[in-house]
Amino acid sequence: MHETAVAQSVIETILAEMRKIDRRPVAARISCGQFNALNDEVMRFAFEVAAQDTPCRGMRLEIRHVPLQARCEGCGRAFAFNIQEACCPACGSEAFAFLPDAPLLLEEIEFEDESNDEGVSEQADPGS
Ligand SMILES: [Zn+2]
Repeated sequence: MHETAVAQSVIETILAEMRKIDRRPVAARISCGQFNALNDEVMRFAFEVAAQDTPCRGMRLEIRHVPLQARCEGCGRAFAFNIQEACCPACGSEAFAFLPDAPLLLEEIEFEDESNDEGVSEQADPGS
């Protein structure tokens, strides 16, 4: 179980960013792959514990699970691997190679903004 270590490192990163821009953090989004997957419930709890007595207390935490990607050797298309349907969704080929698993990543920190402008950049989700 590595959630505690992850939570501590996420909090440290958020605090470092917070010092740079001098605004209060309100939410964060982390993403993980399939081999370093976080347990959402354990992670939220670990984050809450690590955030206590810091300005991160009460922050929202979003955990995004990134599916394993594979690349078709027939048509070259990259797709989210689905064990129920283990073939290329474009050409149906069963010859494909797995791409490296997504890293554990702090994708985004949302800070309080006086101008009430969300300023949140949403990434397109290729996994859906
Ligand atoms: Zn294909």
